[in-house]
Amino acid sequence: MQAFNRHTFTFLPFMQVLKFGGTSVANADNIKKAAAIVAEEIKKEKTVLVVSALGGVTDLLLQCGTLAAQGNQEYKQYLQALVQRHLDTAKALLPVTNQSGVLSQIMQRCNEIEDLCNGVFLLNELSNKTKDRILSYGEIISSQLVAAYLTSTGVAPTWKDSRELITTDSNFTKAAVDFEITNPQIAHYFTTAKATLFVMPGFIAVDKYGYTTTLGRGGSDYTAAIIGAAANASAVYIWTDVSGMMTADPRLVNNAKVIPHISYQEAMELSHFGAKVIYPPTLQPLMTKGIPVWIKNTFAP
Ligand code: ASP
Ligand code: MG
Repeated sequence: MQAFNRHTFTFLPFMQVLKFGGTSVANADNIKKAAAIVAEEIKKEKTVLVVSALGGVTDLLLQCGTLAAQGNQEYKQYLQALVQRHLDTAKALLPVTNQSGVLSQIMQRCNEIEDLCNGVFLLNELSNKTKDRILSYGEIISSQLVAAYLTSTGVAPTWKDSRELITTDSNFTKAAVDFEITNPQIAHYFTTAKATLFVMPGFIAVDKYGYTTTLGRGGSDYTAAIIGAAANASAVYIWTDVSGMMTADPRLVNNAKVIPHISYQEAMELSHFGAKVIYPPTLQPLMTKGIPVWIKNTFAP
């Protein structure tokens, strides 16, 4: 079956977008749970998987950059922790025969982060532009790791760099998407690409000059929405650690209840007033197209 995309006048196959947040990919066990969900979902239709950095990694990267800028050598210990975290996860996740490629990929990425941090240390300066470069590695590594794991289970996904599809202005750390450039890029890519499963890093994008940007903290939800809207997805699923939008923050209120249905408008208000479950700009592009959004619990599917 095909869906008609009135903006580009191309035919797009039905496609769904699944986004897994930091907790859902925090460690090997959680990644396995997420991958099991994906394995079921791809039986239904073409699927784009958007992933966050492993839980806590973006903060760790930020700490590395900040310490380096302060001339504090401790950034090297934080970098070491970062390398170890990813290597340990990869080793716990992958059969030994599948490990070497991923381990060297992780090492290579971490060396790049180290080079950047060394530069920051020498200059005593962390610009927003450099911050985005450094932070982007969290999602790059996590998405490559998840793709490698899926491959080891026989699923064969295509890894696609979001920076090839999402273009923004140069407002580093909170860049605004240029939809006129981005939407046709996404529509064209998914119309022509042959895979049934794509894995993409959330949060990151590129400006018109080719520099890495980010969509703001928590922005992986937004990545999923941008892709879903531009590709006329059948639905966008935000896989997280709570079972939906709730009447209150379940970490603070014992009897917080799941709201079974909510309008885009009300959900947007709740997220703007502090509901942590979804990044505030996420719903706008989906509302415009009337694309349903599901909040799902990776730990209670
Ligand atoms: N990893 C990024 C952050 O922690 C983006 C995200 O998780 O949505 O802000
Ligand atoms: Mg989030």
